Amino acid sequence: MAEKSYEEEHPTRAFGWAARDQSGVLSPFKFSRRSTGEKDVRFKVLYCGICHSDLHMAKNEWGTSMYPLVPGHEIVGEVTEVGSKVEKFKVGDKVGVGCMVGSCHSCDSCNSDLENYCPKMILTYSTKYHDGTTTYGGYSDSMVTDEHFVVRIPDNLPLDAAAPLLCAGITVYSPLRFFNLDKPGMHVGVVGLGGLGHVAVKFAKAMGVKVTVISTSPKKKQEALEHLGADSFLVSRDQDEMQAAMGTMDGVIDTVSAMHPILPLISLLKTQGKLVLVGAPEKPLELPVFPLIMGRKIVGGSCIGGMKETQEMIDFAAKNNITADIEVISMDYVNTAMERLLKTDVRYRFVIDIGNTMKI
Ligand code: NAP
Ligand code: ZN
Ligand code: ZN
Repeated sequence: MAEKSYEEEHPTRAFGWAARDQSGVLSPFKFSRRSTGEKDVRFKVLYCGICHSDLHMAKNEWGTSMYPLVPGHEIVGEVTEVGSKVEKFKVGDKVGVGCMVGSCHSCDSCNSDLENYCPKMILTYSTKYHDGTTTYGGYSDSMVTDEHFVVRIPDNLPLDAAAPLLCAGITVYSPLRFFNLDKPGMHVGVVGLGGLGHVAVKFAKAMGVKVTVISTSPKKKQEALEHLGADSFLVSRDQDEMQAAMGTMDGVIDTVSAMHPILPLISLLKTQGKLVLVGAPEKPLELPVFPLIMGRKIVGGSCIGGMKETQEMIDFAAKNNITADIEVISMDYVNTAMERLLKTDVRYRFVIDIGNTMKI
């Protein structure tokens, strides 16, 4: 398809940065957005976080990417127009959109406020929307989204540092709640101190949970303990440290983005402890069965969260002053940021200053 047709697909011109192929390299991209429908909220994008999923998707590591691909699902901005039937938002409101922009609204999951598990869930980018056109994410100047998938950003949260809550935040908040790892006095391990991991530490601490970080990066120890509020820190390659912590945790939230062994993590669990995988490496992990059987242990997964819970998470964050620790970057730094993210060289989330640096 010639590039011109992307600009003519819908009535309103839009501008963003897109990956064109599996190299994952992003470059400027002119496209278009639909007119504001009855239930749509149109907003000017101000900030967008860079999730590791954006990197997996830009490089087609999960095999589902459609190019050109405009990533970005940690999106915040200011409402510029609302459709005639929009009830929750008005022009000028500060809003956010996370990983999904549509679902069927009639299946069991949708009826239980779990749109994130709807078989017809529409992702914020690289998925076909109800009208058959491809969705484009938040590395762009504007968004038009059904109000059901828009959340309100409370006034006391800074917009840039709140952006990562839309994916990283809900992805760790939801399993802490669902798997009952949110009770004061419990002991939870957080594996991987990246975008997801560092907000997991903050949410778990706010819930009154004792938190141990399990990391490959000894250099993150001091900051984890002194700044993020973790209670202890294990270097996953240090056999002695890992051995000493065996059987001490009620749960472990694994946010690791790459291949890694899970036996050492299962060993950290108490009897009936729960290992929850949220990191999504491109290849299957090896599941050791005997250690599970011998301790009646549980291995589960979790995918973002429903819209009701996402708003609840944002409100909980606002009440407890939880935001991400971010490095704000300009749009044209995005490819360097992606390279650094792959090397875990970020404290702890890149956020693109779309409002000030996106130039046609
Ligand atoms: P990130 O910022 O890159 O953090 C991942 C962390 O994993 C790194 O900081 C690093 O922590 C650790 N790590 C990286 N490579 C490793 C390796 N080879 N072995 C062991 N540890 C390693 O990524 P993120 O944005 O938090 O995302 C993490 C994963 O979650 C990605 O796969 C992403 O696609 C997925 N995700 C899933 C959902 C969901 O709904 N389930 C939602 C969002 C993202 P240390 O330096 O501390 O070791
Ligand atoms: Zn994400
Ligand atoms: Zn559904």
